[in-house]
Amino acid sequence: ETLQTKNLIEQTEKFGANNYHPLPIVIAKAEGVWVEDPEGNKYMDMLSAYSAVNQGHRHPKIIQALKDQADRVTLTSRAFHNDQLGPWYEMICELTNKEMALPMNTGAEAVETAIKAARRWAYDVKGVAENQAEIIACVGNFHGRTMTAVSLSSEEEYQRGFGPMLPGIKLIPYGDIDALKAAITENTAAFLIEPIQGEAGIVIPPEGFLKQAQEACKENNVLFIADEIQAGLARSGKMFACEWDDVDPDMYILGKALGGGVFPISCVVSSKEILGVFNPGSHGSTFGGNPMACAVSIASMEVLKEEKLVDRSLELGNYFAEKLKEIKNPKIKEVRGRGLFIGVELTEPARKYCEELKEAGLLCKETHDTVIRFAPPLVISKEDLDWAIEKIVKVLG
Ligand code: PLP
Repeated sequence: ETLQTKNLIEQTEKFGANNYHPLPIVIAKAEGVWVEDPEGNKYMDMLSAYSAVNQGHRHPKIIQALKDQADRVTLTSRAFHNDQLGPWYEMICELTNKEMALPMNTGAEAVETAIKAARRWAYDVKGVAENQAEIIACVGNFHGRTMTAVSLSSEEEYQRGFGPMLPGIKLIPYGDIDALKAAITENTAAFLIEPIQGEAGIVIPPEGFLKQAQEACKENNVLFIADEIQAGLARSGKMFACEWDDVDPDMYILGKALGGGVFPISCVVSSKEILGVFNPGSHGSTFGGNPMACAVSIASMEVLKEEKLVDRSLELGNYFAEKLKEIKNPKIKEVRGRGLFIGVELTEPARKYCEELKEAGLLCKETHDTVIRFAPPLVISKEDLDWAIEKIVKVLG
């Protein structure tokens, strides 16, 4: 490590709270699938900021939208209308085939919004007795770091020292339809699920589970809420990962790539019956629906479509997974994934391999100790992917 990288890391560690364990690399520049450190060393980004950069770093169209909007108006608050919010609402409702949207900024805030909507819907529409509403979530979930999101978690470390947790939450094993049916009561407001669990290590539910779960929800007047913050927006080779099981959820939670890795924006999208439970004063955010975020988000969704990133993710993902499966190494337990959303599960901690991959010029991050996640920006070229595969074969083979 050279001086600049070393100094910057020391400074970060000296003054920053210690809530992350990054690889020892400082990124100073980025373009497309490539990032560069202060000394000019180039690396390929195989994480895409946890799928926030599906469109590639600094996509020119998205950056142009950001610059144009910065020259007009950046923030109005919701005390006034702005001229980007209406077009954004219509765009996101069309994309999801839903009736109403509510914009926030981060994924965790959108999860908060979904839980608030589901609870109020349970009381106002379903008729659940006051303060009795229940939410069912899945073991291994990751919905963010706010108190609601960590209350949903099954990870002890996500909750330790932060109690008391939010009540009214039940967990079932991921993919267990009988457990879901058994957990539903007359007080159940919603079933919240990641259609592919990202942070748990790219965990894919058994085929047909999402469909069966949706049917069980319908039969019992329970909302089916899909957290597509990481798996959605083309990452899994479909626009939404729910499509793998032909499921149209009652509510989508979106974030990350919704802002193209350029500006934070998240949202929930649903029906009038469900999001109609909000009235002025019941929910909000100073930055939610700001014109910068809306302009950037519109451009970001256009890029997904114009560059056919759904098809690209599926095709290159299948190719990439095949190549990974050809690697002969007894320490590889499983290669699994959908589209360019691939996990390689090892029989030992993955950190060491991520450090070796970094030395070879590839930035990957271990998830859940033993899984290496491969999730490059979806704009990656076949040539760049082949370059990456060659390096991965060298390190893992
Ligand atoms: N939900 C899922 C499925 C996620 O993967 C994440 C982030 O990794 C979140 C929610 C939280 O999003 P944010 O970090 O923007 O709050």
